[in-house]
Amino acid sequence: MEAVPARSYWMEVYGCQMNVSDSENISGILEAAGWSRVEDPDEADAILVVTCAVREHAEIRALGRITQLGASRGGRGRPVTAVCGCVAEEHGSALLERFPVIDHAVGPDRYLDLPEILEGGRSASIGHGDHHYEGVVPVRRTFPRSFVTIMRGCDNFCSYCIVPYVRGRERSRPAGEVLAEVASLASSGYGEITLLGQNVNSYSSGGTGFPELLGRVSGAAGGAWVRFVTSHPRDLTRGLVETMASCRNVCRMLHLPVQSGSDSVLAAMNRGYTRGAYLAKVRMLREAMPGIVLSTDMIAGFPGETEGDLEESAALLEEVGFDYAFLFRYSERKGTAAAAMDGPVPVRTRLERLHRLQDIQGAVTRRLSAGLAGRLVPVLVTGPGSRPGQTLGRTAGNRAVVFEGTPAPAGRFVLAEIESGDGWTHFARFERELGVSERFEACEAWAGADR
Ligand code: SF4
Repeated sequence: MEAVPARSYWMEVYGCQMNVSDSENISGILEAAGWSRVEDPDEADAILVVTCAVREHAEIRALGRITQLGASRGGRGRPVTAVCGCVAEEHGSALLERFPVIDHAVGPDRYLDLPEILEGGRSASIGHGDHHYEGVVPVRRTFPRSFVTIMRGCDNFCSYCIVPYVRGRERSRPAGEVLAEVASLASSGYGEITLLGQNVNSYSSGGTGFPELLGRVSGAAGGAWVRFVTSHPRDLTRGLVETMASCRNVCRMLHLPVQSGSDSVLAAMNRGYTRGAYLAKVRMLREAMPGIVLSTDMIAGFPGETEGDLEESAALLEEVGFDYAFLFRYSERKGTAAAAMDGPVPVRTRLERLHRLQDIQGAVTRRLSAGLAGRLVPVLVTGPGSRPGQTLGRTAGNRAVVFEGTPAPAGRFVLAEIESGDGWTHFARFERELGVSERFEACEAWAGADR
């Protein structure tokens, strides 16, 4: 019998959790076809970079990386290279024309063909599909944390965002498949299951909406914590908030991207809500789940944004008191509506405004973080820390926790006393291990303990 040549790949992932989930499918597809993953890019036959197109900076960084890694390695020649994900979809064959070192551009719906693509001549494989990688067994590397994609694509066309163009129209995965994957993760000991989609709130499959799906996922997840991301504020309903509040293992935290505090900017962004409507949703969440941890995204320097608009964004950060905020300066994405808008804000002004927002949010985050000192919180142990002898964990509010020593193996829940914190990372002292029901009691009590 003819021997099958050993083929190895190395992969790096940029961008959002959806890319992490996609990279697990890529590993599943390649490894089922006989490829093996290596940790050293110099040893790989193929280099894959899973890219993000949301901001220009991330795109440039990923392309720089593959250009560097795809160079010749002396006598061994150079590896096969593939740009995967949103940048591949965005530029297609233009990437191959511009970068001789790139062999393949593979869009987010084309990963099933990767084994053949990597063996073939230079190619651009893009275009949207309607599948969900059914039948692919993902290779996960994030135990005890896990991601389950419940929908792909987006129909919202926020005016600054390239996602609907590179990931296609919204399509939801059948509930039965989602529930089977969740149950399998829970029975394999995963402590945290995050449902993923560009806008999970608009999930809809076979008459099942997101609140119902979340309730059923909560049941299937057993002893695991459940999170979900991303939630579009417009589609956050009272029904969803009530489901969250009634499910013991759904973490009391929500990432709710606001993007701006100004009504005129929100309208230009095509976000579909006003500042007042957003604040009303925040009140609804806090009434149902006092102490809920809230995070957000905000953009500084959107076209036409005035000083007054920026002040409204700054005031909204103060008013809500987000536990954490991902703040960005506006980045033009060719082909989006915003890129053609009048009144572009100079890049230097965008940066200045970004720094103002960062100063405000930094103070809020540090104040809330310092207020946790002395609190007892449940923590999921996730694995070794970056320094020898340290162990990492996550609170239900998704804050990073560092222990000296090893309180318990990865995947166990422990009660920890927060000793100090200066932002999103906290140092903690192990108190005791938590049983299955205790972690939820603590999770409920954490409304007031993690914040
Ligand atoms: S909801 Fe808006 S920002 Fe989010 S992916 Fe869709 S278009 Fe982009």
